Amino acid sequence: MSNIHKCVIIGSGPAGYTAAIYAARAGMNPVLFTGAEPGGQLMITTDVENYPGYPDGIMGPAMMDEFRKQAERFGTDIRYEMIDKVDFSGPVHKIWNESGDEIQAHTVVISTGASAMWLNLPSEQRLMNKGVSACAVCDGFFFKDLEVALVGGGDTAAEEATYLAKLCPKVHMLVRRDEMRASKIMQQRVLETPNIEVHWNTETVEVLGEEEVTGVKIRNNKTNEESQLDVKGFFVAIGHKPNTGIFKEWLDMDETGYLTLKGASSKTKVGGVFASGDAADKVYRQAVTAAGTGCMAALDAERYLVEKGII
Ligand code: NAP
Repeated sequence: MSNIHKCVIIGSGPAGYTAAIYAARAGMNPVLFTGAEPGGQLMITTDVENYPGYPDGIMGPAMMDEFRKQAERFGTDIRYEMIDKVDFSGPVHKIWNESGDEIQAHTVVISTGASAMWLNLPSEQRLMNKGVSACAVCDGFFFKDLEVALVGGGDTAAEEATYLAKLCPKVHMLVRRDEMRASKIMQQRVLETPNIEVHWNTETVEVLGEEEVTGVKIRNNKTNEESQLDVKGFFVAIGHKPNTGIFKEWLDMDETGYLTLKGASSKTKVGGVFASGDAADKVYRQAVTAAGTGCMAALDAERYLVEKGII
């Protein structure tokens, strides 16, 4: 006889682990599938200074380790597997892992987060991992003492530029408008770092190099003037897209793929399927808001199970 889990959680960022803590403490015996990036985006973040309860800040990976331990403490069954297919057509939901095993559950909490976006230039794709990276914290070390460029003007770009500036003699920050989207405090940090040069109104034409990055061709979009920077590393920090492709057939989402929910809840249009974290949030996207919505999803799932007489 197949084992129908009370609650399956897909994803292991702050949303997934928080859902697991609440679900486990409520006796829902959650099974959590970590996905390909256990811990999610915080695993590639340095200092987290704005999560309440850590007055001195904490490194992203250390924080996710604490979340995981707390979820395990209450009995969450954590599986280091990727889910690549779902079927939400029946009252019992079905999901499949990468090995093709079918898992059944009365409730599913989606916390699949979001992944880095690329410029989609052919040269960028060709030189991926040969000097092109979307994660300064993961790859910055390889460019120690070398000149690098970084694209983007949001908080991620600002954070990564200041991180790289500690390793590299010069960081060229390519911002496509005449202002940054980043918060004031992050902008201030960038502008006060002497070895970061901000190139305003600047777009990337091409990443240069055959076997590895040797430079980047840029264009000022006000003057149309083109120039070249001799850099060895090219970092892209232009935002993220939600990891919701496998739910397309079953759930409502906006034009960029963020799941849309019923009112101020974690409910999707399918009974027993709930969403939390960045997969359903294009506005706030913070660790603390993701954790909050993970809690909401577990509470909504618990109510659903009670209403159905399952617990
Ligand atoms: P974001 O806020 O969406 O910023 C994306 C940046 O990339 C913008 O400057 C955007 O320019 C630029 N961009 C987008 N597409 C581009 C393209 N094709 N070419 C060149 N530039 C392009 O993304 P994010 O920085 O990843 O931040 C996401 C969320 O996480 C935000 O809510 C942020 O506050 C939060 N976050 C917080 C922290 C923190 O608090 N420590 C750290 C990291 C992230 P335009 O402005 O012209 O669109």
